[in-house]
Amino acid sequence: MVKFDNVTKSYGTLTVLDSLNLEIAPNEKVAIIGPSGSGKTTVLRMLMTLERINDGVIYVDGDPLTHMQKNGKLVPADERYLRKVRGNIGMVFQHFNLFPHMSAMKNCMEAPIHVLGLSKKEAAERAAELLDMVGLGDKKDQYPSQLSGGQQQRVAIARALAMRPKVMLFDEVTSALDPELVGEVLNVIRKLGTEHNLTMLMVTHQMGFAREFADRVCFFYGGKIAEAGKPDEIFNEPKEERTRQFLSAVL
Ligand code: ATP
Repeated sequence: MVKFDNVTKSYGTLTVLDSLNLEIAPNEKVAIIGPSGSGKTTVLRMLMTLERINDGVIYVDGDPLTHMQKNGKLVPADERYLRKVRGNIGMVFQHFNLFPHMSAMKNCMEAPIHVLGLSKKEAAERAAELLDMVGLGDKKDQYPSQLSGGQQQRVAIARALAMRPKVMLFDEVTSALDPELVGEVLNVIRKLGTEHNLTMLMVTHQMGFAREFADRVCFFYGGKIAEAGKPDEIFNEPKEERTRQFLSAVL
């Protein structure tokens, strides 16, 4: 479903990701872990087309995300192409990023109406269904400032799902939450994993959740995937010294 083919990303002279190769199968749940600055968020931002890559190609569902076909050749994508393919990817951020002047419902209706061309009625039905799914059926008309952090994050998940993405990205979505609100957001992600066929890529500091939920864990270090494997392999028998050091510091 997602393929990074020799992808390199630099900021000036700093190479953040160095010839990254990663393939994610349809419906697979992949957790990305690693020290601060190892490029975890950059991986998600590249998939969201928020960052241009310097080299390589990213594919989503077989189609190039970063490039388009021109005269039988792959050339870097232009803005119009990116706007089109970006809809395949949904992202939930650490700091919710909801529109503060819109109710929970309106937050979820905005992009389906303006980007997908849904009618107001269709968008409202879809938004109501998704807000019910994340357990906020009774908070549809509340504004973000009237909701707790956990509730805001659940609205953000519903809003991303309203675009019917093929891939969902979660970037440290519980890091800004009070500890007692973390569980309700993780429960929604768990529910999505079991009830919906979604490919998910998540950057997380919740090692317990990564261990229990992910099909595969990728440990990033120094711009590369230093080690990847099933959660049991990574957490119980890491092969690399760097993985061991990281895990002993965070667990
Ligand atoms: P953290 O766990 O702290 O969020 P991370 O692994 O997600 O870290 P990234 O946010 O992907 O790391 O950043 C990787 C590196 O790229 C860091 O050294 C960061 O300072 C640098 N970086 C990120 N965005 C930019 C930017 N827009 N301009 C310059 N450097 C950047």
